[in-house]
This record gives sequence, C-alpha cells and structure tokens, in this order.
Amino acid sequence: MRDRIFENNRISRILDDAIANDGIWVAYQPQIDVETGEIHGYEALMRLKNSKVSPAQFIPIAEETGQIIKIDRILTEKVVRQMAEWREHGIPLYKVSINYSYSQVSDIHYVDFLEELLKRYNIPPELICIEITESLFISNKEAVSKLLNEFVKRGISLALDDFGTGYSSLSYLTFLPINVVKIDKSLVDNYLSNEKGDFIKNIVRLVHSLAMKLTVEGVEHQWQNEKLKTFHCDYIQGYYYSKPISGAEIEDFNRKFRSIG
Ligand code: C2E
Ligand code: CA
Ligand code: CA
Repeated sequence: MRDRIFENNRISRILDDAIANDGIWVAYQPQIDVETGEIHGYEALMRLKNSKVSPAQFIPIAEETGQIIKIDRILTEKVVRQMAEWREHGIPLYKVSINYSYSQVSDIHYVDFLEELLKRYNIPPELICIEITESLFISNKEAVSKLLNEFVKRGISLALDDFGTGYSSLSYLTFLPINVVKIDKSLVDNYLSNEKGDFIKNIVRLVHSLAMKLTVEGVEHQWQNEKLKTFHCDYIQGYYYSKPISGAEIEDFNRKFRSIG
C-alpha cells in the first residue's frame, strides 16, 4: 500500500514536470478501412518525452489527481496543430481520434476549447472523433448525454471505446449518439480463434443493425486481419498495420501504405 502511494506520487510528479516543460508528445496509430483498403484515420495516443512510464500506468493516476484535464488539453492542442502542419506539407488529412477520459467531464469548457482550436487552425470538425468509454456513465447519465450532444452539434463524431470489456450495456448503444464502436484487443485474443469467432461476427451484425461502424483494435496477425475482413468489420487498428508512430513518420507511412495498397 505504502509502495503504491509512493509510486503514484512519483508518477504524478513526472506528469507535473511534463506539463510544465513541454514533456508530452503524441503518437498516431493508423486505422485501416477494410472495404477500401485505405487509411481511415489515426488514433492519437499520449507519450512522455522524458519517461518510459506508459499511458496504461500514468493515465489512471492523472485521472485520480485531476492532471488529466491539463494533459488532455495539451494533447488536443498538439493534435489540431499537427493536422494544420500536415496540411501545410501537402499531406492528406484523415480523421484523428482523441481519447476522452471520464474525469474530463468536470472540464466543462472542453468542447468550446476544442471548437475554438478547430476554428483557429481551420480544421473541419468532421475530421475529429472523440473516443469515450462506458466509465463516463458512472456520472449522471442525462448530463453525459447532453455533453455528447454538444460534440455532435459541432460536427464532431463519437466512438465508444473498449466495448466488451467492462459492464457493457447494450442499451447504451441504442440511446447514445455514437458513430463507431471499438472492440478491445482482449476480445480479439479471446474470441477470434476457431469456434468462438461467431461471437465477434455477431457483434459486427449488432453494431451494423444500429447503423454504426465497428473498429477492431489490437490486430497483430495476418490471419486475424483476414478473418475480420470476412466478418465485414469496418476498420482495423493494430500492430499488423502499424504501431503508434510520430506525426513526422505519418507522411512516410501514408506513402508506403498507398504504394503497397
Ligand atoms: P486505448 O484507448 O484502448 O488505446 C489502444 C491501446 O492499444 C494503445 O495503447 C495502443 O498502442 C494499443 N494497441 C493498439 N494496437 C495494438 C496491438 O496490435 N497490440 C498491442 N499489444 N497493443 C496495441 P497505449 O498507447 O499504451 O494506451 C493505453 C491506454 O491509455 C489507451 O487505451 C487509453 O485508454 C489511454 N490513453 C492513451 N493516450 C491517451 C490520451 O491522450 N488521453 C487519455 N485520456 N487516455 C489516453
Ligand atoms: Ca482509445
Ligand atoms: Ca480501446
């Protein structure tokens, strides 16, 4: 217990340092459109410049301490600036997904902040997707629905992340203004092999019946990719195509990916 508090404090200080000294960078992981074989977009994933501490370790601590509000605003600004930079360099723009943490609900001006950034850099809101998780619904459901509609009203789309890992309630899918459902790597690992594959196939059907798209995350092998194609899932994100890469590496990825096709 004492060790854990000590470790959490250590990580929290690393985060303070990163906030104060421009210690955050953004990695982008490509998402491939299964039907067209083209790039669909990227997910923006946070990294620390001066520490090997991973997001899986520092995000929960940042949520607990409230530091998440600052670091997610920093990430958001970096993403929008990066998109403007790509455009300046003649690199085609694809949709970028930004993770939204449940503790950001208290950052009541985040939506305006994002809208303002998009205007300032002249980036169409349709090129941004906000990834939420079910943990958001621990708080007041009505307030959350209202918040989500604020994104939608501004033309920003929404994805429900980590579907199938928590206490997934199918009812969420029916009343939330969500465009994309993302299923987690653990589902791919546990259910894609042999006879259990129908489970994922049925999730694809369910999601499509609600006129939503499905992204599968954590695809590492060719056989998984092929199988998911036969299931008609929409987008694939995983090491099979690319690990998360820096904004500077995106141009190269785009070029190589197009030539391999
Ligand atoms: P997530 O949103 O579910 O992000 C997907 C994670 O799966 C990423 O880990 C990604 O690198 C990893 N991944 C993708 N494909 C594969 C694969 O084929 N194999 C394996 N082994 N892993 C794969 P990452 O970047 O370490 O992020 C972990 C979590 O931290 C994220 O999970 C998200 O919940 C959180 N996170 C990351 N960046 C941010 C951020 O900017 N803001 C917030 N609020 N949370 C973030
Ligand atoms: Ca995510
Ligand atoms: Ca996920």
